[in-house]
Amino acid sequence: MNIILLGPPGAGKGTQARKLEDERGMIQLSTGDMLREAKASGTEMGQKVAAIMDAGELVTDEIVIGLIEEKLEGDHGGGFIFDGFPRTLPQADALGALLAKHGATLDAVIEMQVDDDALVARITARSTCGNCGEVYNDLSKPIPTDGKCSNCGQAAEFKRRADDNEESLRTRLMEYYKKTSPLIGYYYAKGDLKSVDGLAEIDEVAGSIATALDG
Ligand code: AMP
Repeated sequence: MNIILLGPPGAGKGTQARKLEDERGMIQLSTGDMLREAKASGTEMGQKVAAIMDAGELVTDEIVIGLIEEKLEGDHGGGFIFDGFPRTLPQADALGALLAKHGATLDAVIEMQVDDDALVARITARSTCGNCGEVYNDLSKPIPTDGKCSNCGQAAEFKRRADDNEESLRTRLMEYYKKTSPLIGYYYAKGDLKSVDGLAEIDEVAGSIATALDG
C-alpha cells in the first residue's frame, strides 16, 4: 500500500507516518527529513537548499523529485508513506509517473485537516529527539521530565527546527495554500482523497487513518 499524508506544516504528518511505520512495516519518505539530512551533512545540494528551507520556501521540484526517485529504486517494504511530498502539481504528476514505472499504485491520499491558529501554536511548541527523531510538543506531548526520550530511551538533545519560528511559518503556510492545497482538488477528482480531523488526539487521528485505509 502506498499512501500520501497531505496537510499543512504542523498537521501531524510526521507523527502519524512514524506510527504507520511501526504498525504496518511501511516506509516513511519525508522529503523534509531528506533535505535536512543533506543540509546537516553539508552536501552541495544541502548547501544550495539551506537558505530556502530556513526561509520556509519550497525547494525546486527537480530536487525533491530526484530524491524520491532514488528511494523508489530501493526496498519498497510494506509500502511507502509519502510525507511532505508531493507539494506541487508537477510533483504530483511526477509521483504518479514514477509509481507507474515501478508497477506500483497510489492507494490513498489522507488529508489531515487542522485550523491555522492551532498550527501556529503547535509548531512554535515543537521539538524532536536528536537521537531518533521522535516528535514532542510542549502543549500536547511534553519531553519526559527525566530528559529521556520515551521512544529510544536516550537522554538526547531535543532540537527545535530552524524553520519552526513564526516568520518562516507564515511563509510555509503561504506556500502551502498557494502551491500544495490545489492537490486536495487534484486527488479528490482522481477519487483517492480521504479526510481526517488532524486536531484530535494522536491515537484518535491514527484510528481515523486506519479506518480510511482499511474501512
Ligand atoms: P517539512 O519537514 O516537510 O516541513 O519540510 C521542510 C522544508 O523542506 C520545507 O519548508 C521546504 O523548504 C522543503 N521541502 C520539503 N519537502 C518539499 C517538497 N516536496 N517540495 C519542495 N520543498 C520541500
